[in-house]
Amino acid sequence: MNNGYRAWNRGGGRSRRKRRQRMMKTVILSLIVALIIAASVIFLFTLKRLGENAKDKETDILKETETIAPETNPEDTASGILKEGFITKKLTEKQLHEGDLILVRSGAPYVFPEETDLKDLYTGRKKYENGARAYQISSTDIELDSFILSKLNEMTETFFELTGEGGLLIKSAYRSYESQKEIFDYRVERDGKEEALKYVALPGESEHHTAMAFDMSVYKDGANTYIEDEEEYLWIYENAHKYGFVLRYPESKADITGIAYEAWHFRYVGVPHAYYMYKEGLVLEEYLELLKNEHSYDGIHLTFDADDGNSYEIYYVPAADKGETEIILPSGYEYTVSGNNTDGFIVTVNISGGEEQ
Ligand SMILES: [Zn+2]
Repeated sequence: MNNGYRAWNRGGGRSRRKRRQRMMKTVILSLIVALIIAASVIFLFTLKRLGENAKDKETDILKETETIAPETNPEDTASGILKEGFITKKLTEKQLHEGDLILVRSGAPYVFPEETDLKDLYTGRKKYENGARAYQISSTDIELDSFILSKLNEMTETFFELTGEGGLLIKSAYRSYESQKEIFDYRVERDGKEEALKYVALPGESEHHTAMAFDMSVYKDGANTYIEDEEEYLWIYENAHKYGFVLRYPESKADITGIAYEAWHFRYVGVPHAYYMYKEGLVLEEYLELLKNEHSYDGIHLTFDADDGNSYEIYYVPAADKGETEIILPSGYEYTVSGNNTDGFIVTVNISGGEEQ
């Protein structure tokens, strides 16, 4: 202890100076540390504020999206016929690819169902008492969806009974993926790919896969001709819509359909749609775009009187990004729903019938 004290006292003046210097150093150091801490605090605080601002903006975007997104409460969105009352129904992703209005084309392949109700035209045609047929077929294995075949029979029998002309010839109807591939490969080999693609769809992208399309021309005086070249047969072009059929690839719409003019290719889309498309000169691509852009479920529905004596109201419902889509349907009215094969559903309501029995 003493030693220590002594040591302290020895050379006391120098030691006190040193102590003051040390104290000064400590104060300066403390000041620097304090400054660094203050700077850090300010810096961190600024960072936090910036972060919060960014978050605020993010929330704003979300809020905006929320406002833009369609209202989910059907009470608020009911318009047109739905105002009279509605039910909600959930549709599966699979159903997006089913129905009279599916668009199958380049870039929109057909989703093959597990089963198709096919019927062959050979046995499915009516045989008149004198053995006559309303139309000819180029082979015995041509098939269509059985309901579509009944519509084809209805149309051709009416025509045959009206005119006595029995030369309509069905050359092709339903095609499996494999049979389309055979046709495509053959055409590529024969004409080259560029030329083949003008007329023949890639396997998987042909309307023929749907069993709702067929190729029909005329067999007359031992030769194949086209409907457009036979005056007696023009009735088909003028009346096909009454049976739900449209000439799918008109000359003036090749840039829209992506397929060159085909005077022979018919597709079933259902009576009111075929009527509207025929009357307005729209191809399926244009018609579906019109419904999607201008006749949404929460907007103004498309309404018209078709020439089958019924009035229809039609609207589009966007499909959910994933999973089931809840759609609102009229209650008390006959309706059908079809997917468009890409992004939504079309609801078709027969509004002339009134309350369903
Ligand atoms: Zn065809």
